[in-house]
Amino acid sequence: MSKLSLKVLPVLALLVSCIVLPLPKATAQQGEGDPAVLARMQQINDSLRSMGLNVAVEEIHFITIGQGRPSNRIHQSGLRWVANDPRRLADGENITYLVDQSDGATTSGLSSAQTEAALDSALATWDTDKCLKKVDIVKRADSGADPDIFDFFFGFGGLGNPFLADVVEAGWLPKAYFDAVGGPGGGNGILAFSVSFIFVDGSGNPTDINGDNYLDTALNEVYYNDNFGSPGPRLGNPWGINIGLPGIDVETVGLHENGHSLGLGHFGPPPNAVMNPIYAGIRQAPLATDAAGMCAVWASWPK
Ligand SMILES: [Zn+2]
Repeated sequence: MSKLSLKVLPVLALLVSCIVLPLPKATAQQGEGDPAVLARMQQINDSLRSMGLNVAVEEIHFITIGQGRPSNRIHQSGLRWVANDPRRLADGENITYLVDQSDGATTSGLSSAQTEAALDSALATWDTDKCLKKVDIVKRADSGADPDIFDFFFGFGGLGNPFLADVVEAGWLPKAYFDAVGGPGGGNGILAFSVSFIFVDGSGNPTDINGDNYLDTALNEVYYNDNFGSPGPRLGNPWGINIGLPGIDVETVGLHENGHSLGLGHFGPPPNAVMNPIYAGIRQAPLATDAAGMCAVWASWPK
């Protein structure tokens, strides 16, 4: 070791300690969206970190009937799936999904088998989209194990195993859950929401292991609101199969929600799109803007 490096080392050590010590807490981050929702997301992330889990809530998108709600995200960077990511037990270059059959039945009278078939159909539609040619969307069987985690933080479920599949259709939950997540009016306005998690390191900072300048998606959970079609102000808007307004079509909402699972945000209207944030009746096929969005997201996927 030279004299020079001996002199430099303590300086380096000092620099490193300066860089490492004042780590910003995740709660200090700003985010974008509804401040109350963002605060809940940060709280959950603090809990996840104290539990030693390497994932954090990054985005929540609500689809509503009537008044729209802002999308919520913690960082500006955006997030993408990483092919072959061992942390999520990736099925190679495929994206996997699972339908939680235990919460699939609706108060409006649909069986779990009916809602599952409609959600399968929505995912099959994305799978055959021309811009998703490089990725196969593969179904994993529901083993009966709890496959989701977000509901746990609101007291509506256990802390499941988040890596049973990349995308989990977490089923139909009661109005109170949507009030808790969305705040006042949530239970009567939110039809469904998607919550996207990213991977974080031991300090709670997001990772980008493939250097694509996007945060690494860890998992996506989708929750549907069973208040629609239940006694109360939303009795007249029941969930159904291929049902027109004022009913709510499961496949249409499933197509929208899994647009988020596959990396799309909201846009419009205008133009009309599956990814419009306010429900507008049956729409079971992607429109031009939806397809263009998918092309942009998946252009860099390997194969
Ligand atoms: Zn949405």
